[in-house]
Amino acid sequence: MSAAPSLAPNTGAPNTGAPNTGAPNSPAPVAEDHLPAVILGPGAPNDLAGLKVTVVGMGASGQAAAALLLARGATVTCTDRGAHHPPVPGARCVFGQHDEDDFYGADLLVVSPGVPAHSPLLAAAAARGVPRIGELGLAAAMLQARGLPLLAITGTNGKSTTTWFCAQLLDMAGLRCFRGGNLGTPLSTLALALLRGEAAPDGAGGFIENGALAAAVVEVSSYQLELPGPLRPLAAAVLNLTPDHLARHGDMAGYAAAKLRLLSRLAPEGLALLPAGDPHLRADAIPGGLSAGAHLHLLGGAPGVRFEGSVAWLSGGRDDGPVDLSALPVPGRHNLENAAVAIALAVHAGAPRARLEVGRLLPLAHRLQAVPSQDGLRWVNDSKATNIDATLMGLGGVPAGALVLLGGEGKEGADYRLLLPTLRAGGHRVICFGRDGGLIAEALQTGDPALDVLTCPGLKAAVGAAAARAQPGQTVLLSPACASFDEFRNFEHRGEVFAALVAALPPPGARA
Ligand code: ADP
Repeated sequence: MSAAPSLAPNTGAPNTGAPNTGAPNSPAPVAEDHLPAVILGPGAPNDLAGLKVTVVGMGASGQAAAALLLARGATVTCTDRGAHHPPVPGARCVFGQHDEDDFYGADLLVVSPGVPAHSPLLAAAAARGVPRIGELGLAAAMLQARGLPLLAITGTNGKSTTTWFCAQLLDMAGLRCFRGGNLGTPLSTLALALLRGEAAPDGAGGFIENGALAAAVVEVSSYQLELPGPLRPLAAAVLNLTPDHLARHGDMAGYAAAKLRLLSRLAPEGLALLPAGDPHLRADAIPGGLSAGAHLHLLGGAPGVRFEGSVAWLSGGRDDGPVDLSALPVPGRHNLENAAVAIALAVHAGAPRARLEVGRLLPLAHRLQAVPSQDGLRWVNDSKATNIDATLMGLGGVPAGALVLLGGEGKEGADYRLLLPTLRAGGHRVICFGRDGGLIAEALQTGDPALDVLTCPGLKAAVGAAAARAQPGQTVLLSPACASFDEFRNFEHRGEVFAALVAALPPPGARA
């Protein structure tokens, strides 16, 4: 088994990276805070005794951070404007409102990704010298100080898939790794397990025997990069950038700066991966510049990974040469790119290229996932496609002549006519459903009266209509371009209901 390289020892120096210059319309740049030195260490039970820490935002990340801080002996206050959060045993909880004393009187503020760093109370506390760190940064500091390499993946789309592929590739090479962060298990949950000397969670429901953890593959959102603390990945990729989260980041330049900040904080000999030719994701747009000693590689260029058909060629790295992606069991050009990035990161972390069996990669649920059925049709669950860009990607992953299910809770201002060229080119038919199904059908038919569009009240009726209209062997794609909340708890729930409806369809001969 080959060992993954370790990070250079943490210097314990305060986090003084150059502040982001931001863009003219972006929220004020977030200057980096001077953290108590103990935060930069490996962590130990009670090493934070006497430190008053307020955790702001009590979703999954806040809960995980609070548990970690309590185990480290801090005096913890948990606060959230929402009133309905489970109590945190051992912590003082202030839910339903914020008390400014909990901000101004703290030694440290640990901030969940859902809370903007420039929100008034956080900004005012920072102006009074109270240091802030994000949940991910808090955990990363500990893990890095313990010598665990972090591989970080960000971008607008494809983060979860790439994280999942990368973790599987490392496992194939015998490098057991945690996967999580923005996806699934928070990084603080891993840090807590290591602090307690327990087996590390792998982020997929399993555990890794003590001492065998070789790396952590971390999905990182732009929100988590607002207060990254001493996060210093061994390798990091920014996959792509399309308009999203602009209310929080101001404009595309501000959004790009938030993502690119990851590349200004790489470990020595770190790998930075950017898409070649992207107008926003440029090396010269990295706030503070690329980390000294890091290597910039390009997706679709050299050094980096370039494509010849479905072969990805690695160059300028630790194990150069081709990787044939033709056996990748997940459709779509975008998944070839996700796999190529995952390979580049895994190879940089020490996985030998020859050990990477792309044909064994499992897809992530609800992203162009084949749904088992007995009715002779090919059903595909792409429920994660909650916006038009993602649906365009989904359409790229299915054969011509598919039936496409679109609908749910549409995003304000979304222009569904953008789907028309791809729907027409593929000769696809459409079934609209859910709260905004009627609106979508109207937009599509206004743009192209010849397009075959049917409208159904909900997903169940849409599945029934698709089963009745499709020919044997045809593909039915659920790639809704909308959020799911009109009918379902979330996109996972929508995908599960879809799979259950499909599984219940009778075989062709049994149909009335
Ligand atoms: P994220 O975690 O960034 O939301 P996922 O891996 O869950 O990304 O994929 C979400 C959707 O984004 C997919 O269903 C697909 O439509 C689209 N997508 C995935 N990878 C890419 C990519 N590399 N480029 C563009 N779109 C992608």
